[in-house]
Amino acid sequence: MKKSVADLALFGAAQAFASTLPVGQINLPSQKDFVAAFEGIFSRRWYTNYGPLEQELEARLCEFLGVKNIILMTNATIGLAIAALALGLPKGGKVIVPSFTFAASAESLSWVGLQPLFCEVDPHTHSISAKSIRPHLAKKGVCAVLGVHLWGRGCDIENIEPLAAEHGLKVFYDSAHAIGCTYKGKTIGQFGACEVFSMHATKVLSAGEGGFVATNDDELAEIIRNMRSSYGHRKKVEIPVYCNGRFSEAQAAMALMSLNDFEKNCQNNKRRYELYKKLLAGVPGLDLYSFDKSERQNYQYVVLEVDEAAFGLNRDQLVKLLAAENVAARKYFVPGIHRSIPYKEMYPEYVEALPLTDELCTRVMQVPSGQIVQDSDIQIIAELIHFIQRNASEIKKRLS
Ligand SMILES: *Cc1c(COP(=O)(O)O)cnc(C)c1O
Repeated sequence: MKKSVADLALFGAAQAFASTLPVGQINLPSQKDFVAAFEGIFSRRWYTNYGPLEQELEARLCEFLGVKNIILMTNATIGLAIAALALGLPKGGKVIVPSFTFAASAESLSWVGLQPLFCEVDPHTHSISAKSIRPHLAKKGVCAVLGVHLWGRGCDIENIEPLAAEHGLKVFYDSAHAIGCTYKGKTIGQFGACEVFSMHATKVLSAGEGGFVATNDDELAEIIRNMRSSYGHRKKVEIPVYCNGRFSEAQAAMALMSLNDFEKNCQNNKRRYELYKKLLAGVPGLDLYSFDKSERQNYQYVVLEVDEAAFGLNRDQLVKLLAAENVAARKYFVPGIHRSIPYKEMYPEYVEALPLTDELCTRVMQVPSGQIVQDSDIQIIAELIHFIQRNASEIKKRLS
């Protein structure tokens, strides 16, 4: 327990934790299951090109998400790029996408010759909404909307889709955060032309590396399958260009184990989230991002918003103080993509155009959750945050 400001590690005292507590971490399966799965791969000598584990995983994900087609991909970035091309959008067309998201949402568009048109997000949900896309719908060259379900909470789908349809725009989603989540009771994965999920190591469903496209559109699915590679397609169809989005048996083995553990991992995430919520309640100027209780969530991210005036310190100062204690809180997303290279140079017109996003970029942070974070760790982190807030003015003086 810290008794005085001099006890903070940033000012030279001992750290609260001996080793780093990260935000993004892998939910590892049991080592025994892992070895058994790899023995199977070795005995079959079938390592890639749509082996039995890949086929099983596609079928299980179809069932899990209630969607007709799953196309496994090397990773979500490749999945997004292939999906964007498969939609047949005009070369150089503009795709409305939020800036408050992981860079790959926009970068995948750039890779296939499309242009991101950065829009604002709703300051409450942090996600794209009908309101945030409305000013851009009639702009020249706009051909699609790429929605992002940030932190796993479904974006404003019910209002975005009809509005986009009125303007003849296709809608697809970066659903990298939203595996196993619902929107209005329906599982995410069933919306838009298609949705793209990530199974990167830090995502709740993990293949180590990996991703997939989900769609109910059989024709689009076949184009995407053919683009992924010549394997695993059901029928040969004409495609714009071949790619290599292949997924391996090793990835499928990891993902199948992760899918077996999915409910358990989400429950543990939820327990950690609820504990943070309980222990951080009442800290002035600190808001825990909340979810709609009627929807299913994966609780992979514990997101805080710092209001400097009420908390007494800003988000960056809090993150720095925690980092010194070995609490590796993150600042997703700083800077916004519109202010990052290459986009700030490619599209200077957006740099000052997104004040709501800029504001979020100064306030939002994530605290460690995931498999290695114990309840006792959360207790210590919460005590630290309380202590920092109570002593904010003295800390501020020492920092300046
Ligand atoms: C992780 C992530 C991606 C990229 O996924 P990869 O599988 O690593 O390519 C894309 N968008 C968002 C919002 C993400 O969080």
